[in-house]
Amino acid sequence: MPEELVIEMHGDRWWELALEGALSGEEVAAWELHLQECKACREDWEALLEVDQLFATAPQPIPPVDFVGQTLLRLEAERRRQRRWRVVAGIVLVIVVLLVELVALHAIYHDVTRLVSTLLAAQTLIATTLMRLGVELITVAETLAPLMLLGAAACLLLMMPNGALATLAILMIRRR
Ligand SMILES: [Zn+2]
Repeated sequence: MPEELVIEMHGDRWWELALEGALSGEEVAAWELHLQECKACREDWEALLEVDQLFATAPQPIPPVDFVGQTLLRLEAERRRQRRWRVVAGIVLVIVVLLVELVALHAIYHDVTRLVSTLLAAQTLIATTLMRLGVELITVAETLAPLMLLGAAACLLLMMPNGALATLAILMIRRR
């Protein structure tokens, strides 16, 4: 069914013509087809027909002249209300989704921050440990340094040719 026709069917003019029985044969066929497919129209239409029936059968005082117009207005207002609720529900849904996303992002951000700070702390710890190790090595080296120098000197003296060793010994003895 063409969309323009459906839009027309959802307008007040169409409903007035339909209630007055002023639709053409083709239009009535299309209308009945639409009523099968469109739940909102079907319900409104059935309600209108019921009211119409009520007025037709019951001995009623003369209904207000624009009863159909009033009913249509009421129906339209009701539809607008439902549409508004749908819009509000949509907005609420969007807000909820955004909030959930924000919370998730916040959690991810927190995790990343924690990971980075943990890595940084670990790095600091490693650096501190290395520095401590270095300091300890230096301390050990300082303690060992005189011994190592002494050893080196002894090695040097022992490995020197005899002449040099003798000269050195003489020099040392003379100084004393
Ligand atoms: Zn419809």
